[in-house]
Amino acid sequence: MKPLDTRSFKIVPGRYYDTPTELWGFRSEPGSGTPEVIAHAFLDANRNTLGIDLTTLARKRPRIIHGLGANHVIFQQRWQGLRVHRAYVTVHIAAHDKRVYLVKSRAAPRDVLEAAREGRIGEDRATRIAAARVRGHGRTRIVGAPELMWFPARRLLHPAWRVRVHRTKPRAEFIVYVNAESGAVIQAYDNLAALTGRGRVFVPNPMARDHAFVPLDDRGRVQRPTQAAYVEVPLARLKGNGHLDGARATTRLTAKRIRSANNDFRMDWNRKGFEEVSSYYHVDRAIAYLEELGYTGSRRIFVKALQIDARGTREDNSWYSPGERTLTFGLGDIDDAEDGETVFHEFGHALQDAICPDFGQSLEAAAMGEGFGDYWAGSYFEAKKPQPYRLTVMSWDGAYGVGVPPCVRRLDSPHTYETFDHSSKADEHVNGEIWSATLWEVRAALHRKVADRVIVDSHFQLDGFTTFARGARAILDADRNLNRGRHETALKRIFHRRGIGPVE
Ligand SMILES: [Zn+2]
Repeated sequence: MKPLDTRSFKIVPGRYYDTPTELWGFRSEPGSGTPEVIAHAFLDANRNTLGIDLTTLARKRPRIIHGLGANHVIFQQRWQGLRVHRAYVTVHIAAHDKRVYLVKSRAAPRDVLEAAREGRIGEDRATRIAAARVRGHGRTRIVGAPELMWFPARRLLHPAWRVRVHRTKPRAEFIVYVNAESGAVIQAYDNLAALTGRGRVFVPNPMARDHAFVPLDDRGRVQRPTQAAYVEVPLARLKGNGHLDGARATTRLTAKRIRSANNDFRMDWNRKGFEEVSSYYHVDRAIAYLEELGYTGSRRIFVKALQIDARGTREDNSWYSPGERTLTFGLGDIDDAEDGETVFHEFGHALQDAICPDFGQSLEAAAMGEGFGDYWAGSYFEAKKPQPYRLTVMSWDGAYGVGVPPCVRRLDSPHTYETFDHSSKADEHVNGEIWSATLWEVRAALHRKVADRVIVDSHFQLDGFTTFARGARAILDADRNLNRGRHETALKRIFHRRGIGPVE
């Protein structure tokens, strides 16, 4: 294979080394043979551009990943018989024409390798250092054989022992890197807990945990939540890349996202990352609750992690975008994402849209969208709030609002369908209070989980232009399908009282 024309590719320069980490934007001449043979030929032809000493790559057995459209060949770098930590070279080859189109390298250049000094600390001492580092209440034992390797630190390679230590109490399995020159612990992380981070949030608002806390002071300014107002929570199903990227939710749309190498995201409300932590946590919990209701496996409603912009606008407004299928939270007054019920309300729109695309196109459907979001938030958090807040939603987000206690909306509107505002200037949130109050009565009659299941399941037969009457009939149908119609009489009574129908 010929070397690449120097004008035919783009370079991503290395951060610590003078060699490139990436060549892209090119297509090599077609290779021949297996992906492994093509990758070898390509690296040989371009070794000067890449600045890689090919004799340091473990070239006998690269790892090969076969995608649909391309094959990816991965080489591990070794020096003096030892692995260089995370020093990979990957060659990416299009399957249809066998042309290489991308190469990435984290290999250390020759001068860095040659400057590396051998370690003095033996396996036994390294093992004792590693075990001491993770000592808990229970017993520790070493898992597998410790491995001597090279650990890159900027422009240096340290000789290091990689030791796996299992601990019984609290249960953990650490991977510890011990510097074999100095004996210092370079890095230690719990491999079992790597996917669960730690955060602090309000569940759903500061008043729920600290009953003495009042949102506003005498002069109407918002007060700093007390330390007692926070709940320390696990952040579940994180990918472990240091960001709030998980299986159910990701804050990847947020500008200047927070990062934590050990997945510890505990911080106060006035720190920028707090909204990210809060929105990640609450969306993850909302989807986990759907799973608990039975929407798992082939019935799961969200196939991909829901994408969140936790600080998406200066305005006091938050929304779900059906086009993008993303959640955006605003920063006006109180940052919206700080309030768990605001997150749940917006998530309610995402949930309806996932079940029933483009929900809320007519006046009544839009009101049902708002009412359902309030119901969903209120239902999830009711038991976690003190008595005065149980019939309200978004009391932290709505701290500047009216009413006792202040809130964005209530769940006990006395209104019936007769007062539904059908005019062109109608507010779907006000109309929505008729629907949320109706759902709230359904919840009182059926109890929380039974009601949540019936109400979520009723959405599968609705469409974007639905009406209160059709929504009520769908709830009766869902009760028939799930509970053999056990609550028919109670449900009909509720809908009649609210003027919603006909339901038969
Ligand atoms: Zn809404």
